[in-house]
Amino acid sequence: MIVLPANPKASYLAHKFEIDAAIQRVLDSGVYILGEEVSAFEAEFAAWNGNEYAIGVANGTDALELCLRACGIGPGDVVVTVANTAVATVAAIERCGALPILVDVDPVTYTLDPNSLEDTLQAVITAAKRELGVPRAVIPVHLYGHPANMVAIVEIARKYGLAVVEDCAQAHGASLQGRKVGTWGDMAAFSFYPTKNLGALGDGGMVTTDDARLARQVKLLQQYGWEQRYISQVPGVNSRLDPIQAAILRVKLQHLDHDNRRRQGHAMRYLQLLADGPLQLPQTVAGAVHVYHQFVCRFWRRDRLRERLRQKGIGTQILYPVPIHLQPAYRGRIPVLKNLAVTEACANEIFTLPIYPELTLNQIDYVAQSIRAFVIIKR
Ligand SMILES: *Cc1c(COP(=O)(O)O)cnc(C)c1O
Repeated sequence: MIVLPANPKASYLAHKFEIDAAIQRVLDSGVYILGEEVSAFEAEFAAWNGNEYAIGVANGTDALELCLRACGIGPGDVVVTVANTAVATVAAIERCGALPILVDVDPVTYTLDPNSLEDTLQAVITAAKRELGVPRAVIPVHLYGHPANMVAIVEIARKYGLAVVEDCAQAHGASLQGRKVGTWGDMAAFSFYPTKNLGALGDGGMVTTDDARLARQVKLLQQYGWEQRYISQVPGVNSRLDPIQAAILRVKLQHLDHDNRRRQGHAMRYLQLLADGPLQLPQTVAGAVHVYHQFVCRFWRRDRLRERLRQKGIGTQILYPVPIHLQPAYRGRIPVLKNLAVTEACANEIFTLPIYPELTLNQIDYVAQSIRAFVIIKR
C-alpha cells in the first residue's frame, strides 16, 4: 500500500466535474484578471468566515505582507512572530522592511506562547534594545490547524499597542470559543496553496478584515495603488487572485466544512489507534476546534520510525525541520532575544502522519498498524 503524505490531486478528482466546469466558465467569459469570479469568491469567503471584507491576492505570503503594509508597518518597526512556522511568515515581515523578532511556542499546541511573547516584548522595549525598532504588530500562526491562544495574545497586543495579523494559512475553519480564526485580530491572511485545507490548483491567497479602512488599503496596495485605473494613490504592488483559481476555490469552499469534518474523523481514528503508544499525539485545548491541516506527532526516535514507515510506502513530513532562526538565511542576522527552547526541541522530534479528506479508513489503519509494529518491536 502507498500512502502519500499529502494528495492535492485526490482533492481535484473528488470534485473534478464541478471544477472542470468552473474553469471552462472562466475561459468562456473572456475575463482573465479579477472580475466577477474573484469578487463572488471574496463575498462567499467573507460570509463563510464571518468577516466584513475579504480581498483575494496572489498567495498567502503576499496576504501577510499586504496586511502588514495596510497597518502602516515598514522600516524601523518590529513584528513579532513564532520561530516554529513556515518561512513565509517571516519572509512577509522582511518584505515590508520590518524586523522579525521570534518567540517560542507552547509545547502542547505548538502555537505562540503568550509568556514568551510578553518576555520578548519587554526585551525589545528596554533601553538597551531600543535600537531594534518599535514593536508594532504580532503575527500569531494557527499552526497545523489548531488556533493560537488568541484571548491572551489579543490582551497582550492591546497592552503594547500592537496590531494583530493572524496567519490562518493552515487553519481555514478552525475556531476558539466559537469564534473562527481570522475574526480575532485586526486582519488575517489565508493561503490557498494546493495542500492547504482550502486549496487552489495553483497559488492563491486572501486577506480578511472587518475594518473598512484596512480593506481599502489592501485593495489599493494589491494593484499598483490604483483607486481608479492608471492613477496610483500610493506605491503598490501586483498581487491579484487569478479568476481561474477563484472559480476553483468557489467550488471547493462549498465542500470545505465537510472536508474539515473528514480530517477530524481521520484524526479521531489515529488518536484511538495510537492512544496507548509512546508517541505524543496532537492535543486540542478546551474550547478549540482543530481542523487538522497536519496531524503532528512527537517521538524521540522519530527518524528511525519515519524510515520504517517510508519502507512501508507511508510518506511523512517534518514541519518544520529547522526553526527559522537557525536557517542559513536568518541565522546570526535576525536577533534572538529569548531562548527558543521548545521550538528547537520540537524540531528534532516532530513529524506528520498523512491526513487529508480523501484518505481511506484502510490507509489510516495501515499507518497506525505500521507504527504499532515498530514501537512494540523496538521497545
Ligand atoms: C502556506 C503558508 C504560508 C504561505 O502561503 P503561500 O500561499 O505558500 O505563500 C504562510 N504561513 C503559513 C503558516 C503557511 O503554512
